[in-house]
Amino acid sequence: MNAPLHGGCHCGRVAFEMTLSKPPSDYTPRACDCDFCRKHGAAWLSDARGALRVRLRGDPLVYRQGSAQAEFIACAHCAVLVFVRHEHAGRVHAAVNVRALDGPVAFAAEQPASPQTLAPDQKRERWTQVWFADVRVVDADD
Ligand SMILES: [Zn+2]
Repeated sequence: MNAPLHGGCHCGRVAFEMTLSKPPSDYTPRACDCDFCRKHGAAWLSDARGALRVRLRGDPLVYRQGSAQAEFIACAHCAVLVFVRHEHAGRVHAAVNVRALDGPVAFAAEQPASPQTLAPDQKRERWTQVWFADVRVVDADD
């Protein structure tokens, strides 16, 4: 495992720490072409063998998209889109928006992705395979 990478929203109410299993240059952030992600300029990164921990201070903004199966989480105060989560079979899966990282990280060049072409069950299958698994979301007080 590599050293953890930190990120979050602008004001600090939503923060995350992710640990990748490979060097950053082995990852290709996915620039989703759906209208929502395009309008945010989001690019997503995940690692099923890595780890992701999110710390929340107060309730974030939750927007359902992706056949209403994915929850996009943005800060309710400063509006930065930070991560997307999907719960399945009692496990929380998530991907992070690389724009929300605290500093530049030398990932591979971003590639376009078009999950909107997948059927709802194909999306779920893909997310449970490639996203961070067993994501821990804790309140700032914990
Ligand atoms: Zn914020």
